[in-house]
Amino acid sequence: MNDYLLDVQDLKTYFKTKAGYVHAVDGVNFAIKPGEKVAIVGESGCGKSVTALSIMKLVEQPSGEYMSGSIFFDGQDLLDTPESAMRKVRGGKIGMIFQDPMTSLNPTMTVGKQIEEGLRIHLKLSEDQARKRAMTLLEQVGISAVSERINSYPHQFSGGMRQRVMIAIALACNPKLLIADEPTTALDVTVQAQILELISGICEDFGTSLILITHDLGVVAGTTNRVIVMYAGKVVEDATTEELFANPRHPYTRGLLSSVPRLDEVRHAELRTIEGTPPDLLNPPKGCPFVPRCYFARAICNTMPPLEALPKMATHRKACWPDITDQKEQAYAERRRQARVEAQKTASEEAAQKAAQKAL
Ligand code: ADP
Ligand code: MG
Repeated sequence: MNDYLLDVQDLKTYFKTKAGYVHAVDGVNFAIKPGEKVAIVGESGCGKSVTALSIMKLVEQPSGEYMSGSIFFDGQDLLDTPESAMRKVRGGKIGMIFQDPMTSLNPTMTVGKQIEEGLRIHLKLSEDQARKRAMTLLEQVGISAVSERINSYPHQFSGGMRQRVMIAIALACNPKLLIADEPTTALDVTVQAQILELISGICEDFGTSLILITHDLGVVAGTTNRVIVMYAGKVVEDATTEELFANPRHPYTRGLLSSVPRLDEVRHAELRTIEGTPPDLLNPPKGCPFVPRCYFARAICNTMPPLEALPKMATHRKACWPDITDQKEQAYAERRRQARVEAQKTASEEAAQKAAQKAL
């Protein structure tokens, strides 16, 4: 036993397709303490949602397969937990919020009834008790005129308000863990900030652990204490939020950070992105999956590096062979970057010459 609420070890979730297995989650390791607020970030398609769905045991069946690993939650391995017991975990001990509240809310039921449903099933509350608690919850998520609105239907609410209702439903039974998968992606920027603040504040007040999934590192600071960076189905870096922003140790994290727009940068400055695309998860490489996009890569990187703590830093882990803070490694990466810029220039000059000749 350990003092973690959630301990995911070597989780592999693959999808069987006609073309072979999609290695969606490919050996993921991380653990979360009670009350900890953790972000999982990474580009679209890197396995964030499938990790969350695996924890809830909601991965699409029968194509999705849990190939290996364990998911210890509150003392039990969820991968070994039968469906009947999982139903008590979902909505009871683990609450979940998805990107689009319209698809998760029932359009034919009042929001009050939808909040009360979980309370009656999981907490066995009476009709009266459930109604009272639903009203308190709606107030807690910042909805006014509750006694009227509790009888409204989802379509009568704005996107932000619907997401507040989702938060109320997810938190109704005092879960130990809240998983929010891109909860604000469908909302406009000001509402986004309010909802994130609400989620973060409520988790703090109730001592609920949080997994916030997002492709946008910009929303992480101020919302979570820790960040887990995923790439191609693997965890490549894991550190406290402060440490990750100040001292990123994986070249991919560095790339992600430099694509976050900063208020103090010139407005028209080109948004830097990481060149190239992630590998095909049907045929993932044996070594580090970031190699084709990485200027720091060397021969050793064709062997997958282990996810290990930095020397003397138990709370900062990275899966990367080179030390990217080393000046020699930086000079090497800069030479490789320059060489690529030159090669691209030559290639485009050739193309320009070809085009000019065609015109003759
Ligand atoms: P994200 O990080 O954007 O949430 P996902 O976890 O949704 O990414 O997906 C990870 C990978 O798994 C992607 O390559 C995706 O195409 C693949 N995938 C997800 N669901 C399925 C499915 N039902 N069948 C086959 N492949 C899937
Ligand atoms: Mg997703």
